[in-house]
Amino acid sequence: MIECDNCKTAQFLQITQSRVYFEDGEMINEISEKYECTLCGGTGMYSYSDDGESSISGDITKTKERPEFA
Ligand SMILES: [Zn+2]
Repeated sequence: MIECDNCKTAQFLQITQSRVYFEDGEMINEISEKYECTLCGGTGMYSYSDDGESSISGDITKTKERPEFA
């Protein structure tokens, strides 16, 4: 999940913008989400594609919901 890097919680994060990229009009290739923390005002960008690649920037951080080796 995504949480605020300043507040160390996802409680105040809101997705302010979400964009989905399509390929050939149907397949979802990449999703880009813009986050804003309503507590500290921090913003961040998180994007991921269907081949498992993801990138994150700004005042947000990604935490693992479950171990990768589970
Ligand atoms: Zn925050």
